Amino acid sequence: MTATDSPMKLHVLSTGVMECDHTWLLLQAGNTITDRQHKDKPAAWGEAPTHAVLIETPEGRILWDTGVPRDWEKRWEPTGFQDFFPVQEDPAGPGYLDTALADLELTPEDIDILVLSHLHFDHAANAKMFENGKTRILAQADEIEGVKSIEGEFAGAHLVSDFSGLPLEPVHGDAEIVPGVSVISTPGHTWGTMSLRVDLPEDGTKIFTSDAVYLGASWGPPAIGAGIVWDSVGWLESVEKLRKIQEQTGAEMIFGHDAEQRKGLTLAPDGFYS
Ligand SMILES: [Zn+2]
Repeated sequence: MTATDSPMKLHVLSTGVMECDHTWLLLQAGNTITDRQHKDKPAAWGEAPTHAVLIETPEGRILWDTGVPRDWEKRWEPTGFQDFFPVQEDPAGPGYLDTALADLELTPEDIDILVLSHLHFDHAANAKMFENGKTRILAQADEIEGVKSIEGEFAGAHLVSDFSGLPLEPVHGDAEIVPGVSVISTPGHTWGTMSLRVDLPEDGTKIFTSDAVYLGASWGPPAIGAGIVWDSVGWLESVEKLRKIQEQTGAEMIFGHDAEQRKGLTLAPDGFYS
């Protein structure tokens, strides 16, 4: 993870740490969902970190997801989610996407392709930073179609102002983005949630599941569902699809919001995978 001849570099960017009742992420009998005014009540309150992934390839720079927005408290007000998923405001702690890119001496204009795992408020929130006429912005076709059915400002964790008017390019099913970087269609969490597969020359295959799998505990086996799932049967089929690919490739799985797993990851700018 230091000097390398690999043509690829993969940086994991910290893009804000939310807190929430983990009942949202993992169904546990006897729990009811709590807001921050009552966070001392259930044992399930904990961190839900977010990340983005920057991959430097000979074909250009690819960014996967964008994390939470700096103005989350105000922006999430119409949804009420600011009380259920408050972002930690520790100035010494991890930053947001803009500072994470700046730490690598990059700006949004340096990104050739932005790939959005899905259009929820903790993944697509900073997509409009890339409305620069240069960065291509990709999402799964079913997600782009799905959000068209939203009436009003938001539906669930889809906040229309995050992505309205963006020139989203549809990806259909499983697809290679550039050699060594591909998306895996893993619907269920939303209409068109997808996962990212990167085949690194030195560090091997890594699969970033986004919210197709929130936590190591969701992955199992057996897979355990959660409070925010659009289609539970589709969700389970997607987890088992990922499990087959993991078994075939020996891939390392990196889950969407796992605070424990994150402690073992190398985060930018301290290092990268290659
Ligand atoms: Zn999420």
